[in-house]
Parts: sequence; structure tokens; C-alpha cells
Amino acid sequence: MRQLAGIELGGTKTILVRGAPGRIAERIEIPTTLPDETLGQAAAILTDWHCQNPIAALGIASFGPVRLDPAAADFGSILHTPKPGWRGARLIAGLRGEMDCRIALDTDVNAAALAEYRLGAAQGCGNMVYLTIGTGIGGGILVEGRPVHGALHPEVGHVRLRRVAGDDFAGVCPFHGDCAEGLLSGPALAARFRRHPSEISRDDAAWDPVSRDLAELFALLILTLSPQRIVVGGGVTGKQPHLLPRAIAHVPTILAGYLADCDAASLGTRIVPAALGDDAGPNGALVLAADILAAEPVAGAGRHL
Ligand code: ZN
Repeated sequence: MRQLAGIELGGTKTILVRGAPGRIAERIEIPTTLPDETLGQAAAILTDWHCQNPIAALGIASFGPVRLDPAAADFGSILHTPKPGWRGARLIAGLRGEMDCRIALDTDVNAAALAEYRLGAAQGCGNMVYLTIGTGIGGGILVEGRPVHGALHPEVGHVRLRRVAGDDFAGVCPFHGDCAEGLLSGPALAARFRRHPSEISRDDAAWDPVSRDLAELFALLILTLSPQRIVVGGGVTGKQPHLLPRAIAHVPTILAGYLADCDAASLGTRIVPAALGDDAGPNGALVLAADILAAEPVAGAGRHL
């Protein structure tokens, strides 16, 4: 069987894997520091693997914003990230090294969405959203089983939400203040509570505006994309599992009866925790690699590199 490799480039750590989707044979984690250092370390690991057993395809699942349009001059580059040093970093050139293999690129959240669809909590649901709520918020979207890119790629974390009356928390997003990420990410909760969210008991009323804000995000996604499933990963709901059912309970009120089938019981099966945990991104990278290997080469095609 031909060897596949995947890399998930995250804001603080980068994970390299080889194997197949759902069957990770080896996994190496390195810190995400500066592009030359991190991409150099990753390329050395990939080259080592390639020398042992040629890599047939590599999937790259990257934090964004990242240029996914293969026709663009800056294809494969990190765009206007606030992460120091990474703006303009060229991922494909930095990772390919001497390897002559096919390379597929997508966002980390689109890759995670693919993994949850193929292997995890959204099996059978080709129209789905993978939402991660952690250091930041990101959303991967599949329509008919395919990731949505559009002009760039969706930036679900930065939508604005209708706020709870009387809640004057300013939010922490450096661009928007109280966008979804500015209200609901881990750093946002720490700023809102003035202590680590894990120190707030699950019964504390402090969770009320948070769960209401999250419900607004769910309602927005349901109304715009009609997902068959919303899969929620990341540390915030992972470490505070009470937050998900609490938010789901608000959604029917926000929808105000307009979508009659969106009662709390049905939403409880439609909005679910991620099944793959920290393996969603790496498995997604392997799915990208497997898919590009399975696809017929198309002349001049974009991501068929
Ligand atoms: Zn924002």
C-alpha cells in the first residue's frame, strides 16, 4: 500500500502523521514557532519518512487565512495572520523538499470536517459544519461532502452575533471586538470571567450569556447552511461539556418556531461533540492525501500538484 502523509499546522503546535485515514501509524508533534524553523523541521521529518518508504501523497491542513485557489500567484501562502512571522509564508514550497509527490492543501477546519464526516460524528451527513472553539474559533463547511472554499474560505469565527441585552463584555478579537471568536474563544472566556473558565462552576450564571452567544452562532449556521450536523470540537466545549446542551437549549427560542423541526431533542442529535478529538486534523490531512491520490489527474488542475 502506498504511503500517505499528513501535516496539521496549528497556531501553537504542528502534527505530522503517516499511515491512512483512521489508521495513523506514526505521529510526531513539533512546536509551531517561525515558518523557516517549523517548516524546515517538518520537511526534514517528511524527507526521512520518504526515504524509508516513498510518500505518494501529502495532505496539508493549515491554520488560516491561507490561499487555497491554485490559480492565484500566492497559492499556498499564509495571508493576513496576526501570528508573528507567518504572513506570506509559503507552505507547499517549504514542505515539499525533494519529494516528488502529490500535495493537497486545505484549512485545518475543512480537513477536520472531512475527518468527522468520513470517520467520526458526522458520518452520513455530507452537509455539515465542523466548529472548533479553542484558542480561536474556526469553522469547516462541507456541502455534498466537499469542503467549501469560495473566494478564500469561510471565516465562521468572525461573524457578529446578536448580543444578550445588558451584556457589555467588549470581546477580545483584535479586528472586531465582539465577534464570535471575540466572545466565545478560550481567551475571550478568560477575559470575560477574569479567571480561567475551568474555575467557573457549571451552575454559575456567568455561563448564561456565553451559552446564549453560542446558541446565536448555532442558529446562524442552521439558517444559512442548513447543516445536517454541526460537530463541535476544541478545548472550550471539550473541557466544559455542559456548555453544549446549555447552548442547544436556547436555539429553539432564538429560531422562534420558524423551523418547526428544530426542537431541543432533535437539535441534541444534530449538534454534537466531535468524535475524533485531537486526531480530527491529522486524520483530515490524511483524507486530503488519500483523496488527491484517488483523483484522476486533470491537466492544469489546481490542487493536483
Ligand atoms: Zn473577529
